[in-house]
Amino acid sequence: MSSLAFTVLFISFLLISLVVRFWLASRHIRHILVNRATVPAQFSGQISLEAHQKAADYSIAKTKFSLFIVLLNAAVLIGFTLMGGLQWLASASFDIFGDGWRYQLGLVLAFALISGLVELPFDYFRQFVLEARFGFNRMSPALFFTDLFKSTVLSLALGLSLVWVTLILMEKAGALWWLYAWVLWCGFQMLMLVLVPLFIAPMFNKFKPLEDESLRTRIENLMQRIGFASSGLFVMDGSRRSAHGNAYFSGFGAAKRIVFFDTLLERLAPHEIEAVLAHELGHFKLKHIVKRIAVMFASSLVLLALLGYLKSQAWFYTGLGVEPMMGASNDAMALILFALVLPVFSFLLSPLTSLSSRKHEFEADAFAAKYTNSQDLVSALVKLYEDNASTLTPDPLHSAFYDSHPPASVRINKLLAI
Ligand SMILES: [Zn+2]
Repeated sequence: MSSLAFTVLFISFLLISLVVRFWLASRHIRHILVNRATVPAQFSGQISLEAHQKAADYSIAKTKFSLFIVLLNAAVLIGFTLMGGLQWLASASFDIFGDGWRYQLGLVLAFALISGLVELPFDYFRQFVLEARFGFNRMSPALFFTDLFKSTVLSLALGLSLVWVTLILMEKAGALWWLYAWVLWCGFQMLMLVLVPLFIAPMFNKFKPLEDESLRTRIENLMQRIGFASSGLFVMDGSRRSAHGNAYFSGFGAAKRIVFFDTLLERLAPHEIEAVLAHELGHFKLKHIVKRIAVMFASSLVLLALLGYLKSQAWFYTGLGVEPMMGASNDAMALILFALVLPVFSFLLSPLTSLSSRKHEFEADAFAAKYTNSQDLVSALVKLYEDNASTLTPDPLHSAFYDSHPPASVRINKLLAI
C-alpha cells in the first residue's frame, strides 16, 4: 500500500465514524424529545413524569457531551498523527535519551501523559458539572484528585512494565514476537482478574462483608439452588463517589466474590436484590464471562498478528504522519500508532459487540426468572432505570448500535412474557 492511500483510508474511516456518531446522536436526542412529554404507557404508575423528564434531560446532556468528546478526540488524533505531534515527541525523546529502551519508554510515557492531561478537564467537568447537575455526584474535588493520583501511579507501574516487556519481545524475540506478546498479554489479563479484587479495588473503596443476616441467608439459599460457590459477599461504599447503584461479580476460581454497591442495597427490597443477583449469577452460570474472555483473547491474537505485519511496513508510519527513524527502533511508535488508529477502523464493528452483549443480557434475565420471581426483577429494573436516570425511550437505532443492555421496555416485556 502507498502511504498516501493509507492516509486517505484513515481519513475516510475517521470521517465516516464522525458522521455516523453525529447522525445517531441527533436521532437519539430527537427521539427522546418527542417522547419527553409523557411517561410511556408501560411505565405509567411506576415512574413519575418528573423522573421521566429528568432521565430525558440527563440522557440528552450526556449525548451532547459525548459528541464534544468525539470531536476533541478526533482533533487530538489528527494532532498526534498527521499534524506531526508524535513525530515531534519522538525527536524530543531521541534527543534526550539517544537510541535504546529509554528513548522508547520516554516516547510512550510522554504520549500517555499528554493524552491524560488533555482528558483531565473533561473528566472533571463530567463529574462536577454534568453528574452534579442531576444530583449524582457524591465526590469531593479532593477525592477526585486522590483517585487521579492513585490511578496514575498504578497505570504507570503496571502499564509501563507491560509495554517494556512487549518492547523487549518486539526487538529480541524474532518474527514470532507477537505470539509471545500475546501469551504475555493473556497472562497479564488473568493476573489482573486476581489482583483487581484483592489489591487494586480496595485501594479505592472499602469492602465490608455483607452483615444483614436475613439477606445473607436469602442469597446463600439462592446460590445453593443455582449451584454456585463464592468466597464472599461484600458491600462496597459506592456512595462515596456516585449515587448510581450497581452489583457485580469479580475474580475467578476460588477468589470469586460478589460485590453490592451500598447504594443498591439501600434502594432495593431483599427479594429484588435476590433477583438482580440471580441475573448476575446467570452471566456466570451461562458461561458469558468465560466466552467474553475467550473472544477477547482471540481478537487480541488477530490484532497482535496484524501489528506484527504493520510494524515493518513503511506506509503504516508515513501514512500517519511519522517518518520511521533510521538506525533506531520504531517499535514504541508502532505500538502507539496502532493503539491510536485501531478504534477508528474498528468503530463500525461496535454494533456486533453490542448485539452479543444484549443477547447475554436476555439470557441472564431468563435465567433469573427461572430461579427467582421475574416480577421482582422487573420492579428492580424499573427502580434502577429510574435511579440511574436512564431514558426509557432511547432511539432504537442508537440503542442497537451502542447499548450493551437492551432498552428497559424491551427487556421488561420479555420478562413479563416468560
Ligand atoms: Zn447483565
